[in-house]
Amino acid sequence: MKRPVLNGLSVDVEEWFQVGAFERTIDRADWDGIATRVEYNTGKVLDLFGESGVKATFFTLGWVAHRYPALIRRIVAEGHEIASHGWDHARVFTMDAETFRADLAKTRAALEDASGARVTGYRAPSFSIDARTPWAHRVLAEEGYTYSSSVAPIRHDHYGWRDSPRYAWRPVEGAELIELPVTVAEIAGRRLATGGGFFRLLPAALTDYAVRQVNADGGRPAIFYFHPWEVDPDQPRVGAAPLRSRVRHYSRLGAMAGKLRGLAARHHWGRIDAVAAIEAARV
Ligand SMILES: [Zn+2]
Repeated sequence: MKRPVLNGLSVDVEEWFQVGAFERTIDRADWDGIATRVEYNTGKVLDLFGESGVKATFFTLGWVAHRYPALIRRIVAEGHEIASHGWDHARVFTMDAETFRADLAKTRAALEDASGARVTGYRAPSFSIDARTPWAHRVLAEEGYTYSSSVAPIRHDHYGWRDSPRYAWRPVEGAELIELPVTVAEIAGRRLATGGGFFRLLPAALTDYAVRQVNADGGRPAIFYFHPWEVDPDQPRVGAAPLRSRVRHYSRLGAMAGKLRGLAARHHWGRIDAVAAIEAARV
């Protein structure tokens, strides 16, 4: 019997207000005064993973690790991987190479201090490594990261690098670093996103289709992600944000936990570092 493909399960650990949808409505300077939900929501995600018996990678903001070290310790104690999501969700294309290097170092120190575990993986906030940041992967390689999962190989109004590879690739010649793009479905020649808000808003069958499609394509792994705030129907509402942002952010929050349980049960999932090791041997 063929062994099932190990797919990568990941959570981008950030507060409900640290998202692109609210960046013009909520100022970074006000973050410390806003109702925090991240410890409670990430706890719900950890409970769900525990019940489902799955391990995952938690790409965590340095900002969060610095404030909630007990949460970071719990993630590691339960067998999950801690990896970097940058300090405060500043997108990579808003930085230059040296600012990016400093952001990586500050975040890694906070994550490693809190967890006692070594950080080897990185995910760019809002998949913001793209054609505008040709230096980003080189900086990650120089800083000793073994994998990045920072590219959405799709065109989207907020992000995307349409012409980049759909599966694992080596972005820096001679370096160990591999890029594991987030999974997109290919339907009738078009690429469709399948994680995060897309999974929450669209039928789960679309994500199931994408996972099976890539698994059947030479045994490639799917890379799936979501956010702790997506399992939180009780989070505060920001009335001042644009309507389109509010619809995307607040729809179907109550259904998310159940959909995740189903997805966890229907496929074989694990930490992204484990998937990266398998893919590194083939690319
Ligand atoms: Zn994020």
